[in-house]
Amino acid sequence: MTVGSRNSTGGRSPRVAVIGAGVSGLTAAFRLRQRLGVDAAIDVYDSADRPGGLLCTREVGGVSMDVGAEAFIVRRPEARDLVDELGLTAHVVSPGGLRPAIWSGDGLHPLPAPALMGIPLGPEPMADLASPADLDRMAAEADVPLAWAPGADPSVGDLVGDRFGRSVVARGVDPMLGGVYSTLADHLGLREAIPALARALDDGAPSLTAAVRHVLDAGASATGPVFGALRGGYRELVDALVAAGGARLHLGAAVTGLAHGPDGFTLLIEASGQPRPIDYDGVVVAVPVWTAAELLGDVAPETAAVLADVQPAGSAVVAFAVPESTPLPEHSGVLVATDADLAIKAVTLSTQKWPHLRGGPVRTLRASFGRLGDPVIRTDEQLVAAAVSDLAIVFSAAGLPAPEVADAVVQRWPAGLPHYPPGHLARMRTALAMLPDGIGVAGSGYNGVGVPACIGTADAAVGKVTAALPT
Ligand SMILES: Cc1cc2nc3c(=O)[nH]c(=O)nc-3n(C[C@H](O)[C@H](O)[C@H](O)COP(=O)(O)OP(=O)(O)OC[C@H]3O[C@@H](n4cnc5c(N)ncnc54)[C@H](O)[C@@H]3O)c2cc1C
Repeated sequence: MTVGSRNSTGGRSPRVAVIGAGVSGLTAAFRLRQRLGVDAAIDVYDSADRPGGLLCTREVGGVSMDVGAEAFIVRRPEARDLVDELGLTAHVVSPGGLRPAIWSGDGLHPLPAPALMGIPLGPEPMADLASPADLDRMAAEADVPLAWAPGADPSVGDLVGDRFGRSVVARGVDPMLGGVYSTLADHLGLREAIPALARALDDGAPSLTAAVRHVLDAGASATGPVFGALRGGYRELVDALVAAGGARLHLGAAVTGLAHGPDGFTLLIEASGQPRPIDYDGVVVAVPVWTAAELLGDVAPETAAVLADVQPAGSAVVAFAVPESTPLPEHSGVLVATDADLAIKAVTLSTQKWPHLRGGPVRTLRASFGRLGDPVIRTDEQLVAAAVSDLAIVFSAAGLPAPEVADAVVQRWPAGLPHYPPGHLARMRTALAMLPDGIGVAGSGYNGVGVPACIGTADAAVGKVTAALPT
């Protein structure tokens, strides 16, 4: 079966499929429409019953809350530009001035600063967090010769543990990076997570302290907020992308096969009823990387073999609404040290973090669980109970009564984020270079896990696919 119409010049308009309607796939569909014009047949398939993937806004206590991604970095261009193009600029909100705290031992500690992704600039920022031995170690680090070979590829945890000590990893770096990547610093590549730090070391920084200082100094002139979000939640971006892309969106439609076809490629679509083959000139594969590995087995076996090694890290978010009168700690959230005795990994005190949420009928917060190697095995009831218990402990340490729960919603992401071990980015570059013409891949597995990075991969995938379309 083929889709697409003949255009007025007698040539057939291009037919392109996008597999996956998360932010990567929806951005790809929007860019395809921009490049190919109104006549192009663009089909987006998603096995779920709603678009958005990990962008998911749900109602909690009568207010909209993002229960997957909630923010985006505004200091890099991809998400900011897309939001502008979609006419959503006026909907962008910024966090207030409150900072997160670290939970370590049995108390709340200010987030170390100055620090680079939790790596402190010397001992002072972690004076009340790191062990005494590690404080001495940090103080002396700049004078201890650093054996760094340019191109070295350690994990963040190995480098920081070696130079500053394990308490700095557990109480500074893990809490910061663990939330972003759903993994421990020991399993996260330095070049993947903090490439500027690796570059500073490659360029000859004589110590970790010097390299951290170099990167912090280089970014010191940046002003304005680092993060933004959408006033109505990520649902606004999803809705705007669906509308602007003008693609046919097929929900509840899993793509289970991708093969070479008469005009390019043939997809096997499983919706209700029999699987249907449909032919396309080009395909953007925007499903999670492990699903992409399965789909690419026939048309790009070498790429698929590399992608198949990427491990998923599962997580879960418990979103709470509490009565409007509930006092909250004076922090934007709490990041939990990995040697602390709490089940939660982090809490975002949403109403404290985002001023636009204040003044509503309830206050909101979200607790998160799970990381690579520590899957979420509790039931929903157990997750809520564990979060409530940990919140009571944290609130008590802040001198506040345990919050009363007005509503709770559990959102599971059993394969939420791909693992970025040392060497991951280089392996992905090699794997993607082996893709055949006419196929592009987009998503969180290839060039960073954040929404802006996903948008960037969608742009690149569309460039690759459109370059190969018949003219
Ligand atoms: C809890 C959590 C919090 C996060 N917070 C942030 C944050 O605040 N800021 C940030 O920048 N990033 C954040 N991230 C990361 C970010 O949300 C994701 O990396 C990004 O949304 C991934 O988008 P995607 O489109 O590549 O993949 P997905 O959102 O996973 O979309 C893939 C889509 O493919 C569909 N699909 C799968 N298999 C098939 C198939 N066979 N056929 C058809 N469709 C299929 C799925 O249903 C899904 O809709 C967070 C991630 C998690 C898990």
